[in-house]
Amino acid sequence: MTTEVIPKVVSLDLDDANYLADHLSAEQLRKEIHDADIKRAVARCFGEDEEEFYWEDFGEVCKTALDILRANQPKVEVREGQVSVRATKDANDIVDVISRYTGLRKVGKEYIGKCPFHQDNHPSLQVNQDKQVFYCFSCQRKGDVVNFIMQIEGLTIKEACQFLLNDPKGIDKCLL
Ligand SMILES: [Zn+2]
Repeated sequence: MTTEVIPKVVSLDLDDANYLADHLSAEQLRKEIHDADIKRAVARCFGEDEEEFYWEDFGEVCKTALDILRANQPKVEVREGQVSVRATKDANDIVDVISRYTGLRKVGKEYIGKCPFHQDNHPSLQVNQDKQVFYCFSCQRKGDVVNFIMQIEGLTIKEACQFLLNDPKGIDKCLL
């Protein structure tokens, strides 16, 4: 029923999310997120990296679309150089950003540290610089650099991008 929209989404970007928010209901989006999780898990089982990343990305786009619907806000405008999740991610290395909130040290391919979302006695937070994602084994929070800022600063996706890209106050706050 909704499969025809899938090929239009190739990466996590606000215009993709806007498209889905315009065309799907919250219920349909939740189903897409669920399906993407399953497809990602299957791809992981078969070691199909590209497929796995595609479904991970697609799930994130659907979650962003759901955020847009939930916020019941007018469509987020995307102008060149303005708020774009991809541009925000390109400009902000996840290890640099998370290091402003908690100490990270490199262990093998991952960076680990105490999770800043709760009282963490042992380092539960893993940050993968190659994939630009974080995951906490204790509280199960996970995501990319934009999700991290949304969660830790309590911002919408648009605000989180502005915070990371061009809000000087945001940068000050980041460095506290
Ligand atoms: Zn945690």
